[in-house]
Amino acid sequence: MATVVKTLKLRVKDKHASLLLQMARQVSFVWNFINALSSRSIRERGKWLSAYDIHPYTKGAAKELGLHSQTLQCVAQEYVTRRRQCKRARLNWRKSIGSQRSLGWIPINTGAASWKNGQVYHNGHYFSVWDSYGLGQYKFKTASFNEDARGRWYFNVAVEVETKPTEATASVGIDLGLKDCATTSTGQKLHGRWYRELEPQLAVAQRARKKQRVKAIHAKIANRRKDEIHKFTTNLVKNNAAIFVGDVASAKLVKTRMAKSTLDAGWSSLKTALEYKCHQAGVVFEEVNEAYSTQTCSACGSLPQSRPKGIADLGIREWKCSECGAVHERDVNAARNILAAGHCRLAGGISCL
Ligand SMILES: [Zn+2]
Repeated sequence: MATVVKTLKLRVKDKHASLLLQMARQVSFVWNFINALSSRSIRERGKWLSAYDIHPYTKGAAKELGLHSQTLQCVAQEYVTRRRQCKRARLNWRKSIGSQRSLGWIPINTGAASWKNGQVYHNGHYFSVWDSYGLGQYKFKTASFNEDARGRWYFNVAVEVETKPTEATASVGIDLGLKDCATTSTGQKLHGRWYRELEPQLAVAQRARKKQRVKAIHAKIANRRKDEIHKFTTNLVKNNAAIFVGDVASAKLVKTRMAKSTLDAGWSSLKTALEYKCHQAGVVFEEVNEAYSTQTCSACGSLPQSRPKGIADLGIREWKCSECGAVHERDVNAARNILAAGHCRLAGGISCL
């Protein structure tokens, strides 16, 4: 048994929105205060304040602000981390109003939120959530309340879960593609039409300048993508001991009608979900070089004359190997080659495609 940390996301019931918004405004106020304090210190004294240095300035303000004292420490900690990442002496202000307003965020330290009477207890308040995980069985670590673009609130909490090694023995290769988001070496497909299906509706709403509607459709697309990827990856992780994914070649990002970002979003969330679930389930996960995976015959290993070559042949879905006569569905063949490359990698430590 090994333990891993996993983040659960739960929707908070809408009746708490006004309290959370009020708390989030105070968090923004603290953030901006720290931003001013820190940038002044750098400008006037050349001193980059640490979270520890900031603490005395905010200490004791929590009660008056209606925040948990450790939330102030979390804000300072996050500020210092971001300042280091951005390498800037001053960060952006958190805005509470206007179109550029920052989405609500209330960080919660380990121990400052708990499960009590079927609700999340934090800072003297009880929050009802749509509990799809059975939160009562977990011990909370760090957490936060977060608002989305539509003003809905979520409780994100890190919890420790125990995992046991997988009993599956099969392995699978995955080809990331343009026509379908992903194809496995066993012929399963993740179609990834979440964007295309809703594109006409989105266009209508955009032309009519219906902001709320556009936001809602974007959220719907994101939800569909998340849901489909979740189902697809869960199933793969449950049934395999090793999963190999092709590293996406830029050659695939040739001019297509779909936006590059749309493809990227699908591919990267798929890879992230896989990696995370594999890690949790003790399944091997590797990215392998996908060079020639489309052109090599997965039956005989040759690069036959009849292979689909490059951009010009992108439209070819099915082809027959002129060396051995095997008939291939293009993406399944690629996924099989990726699987073979993954096995070589495990055995020899290098890719052999
Ligand atoms: Zn062949």
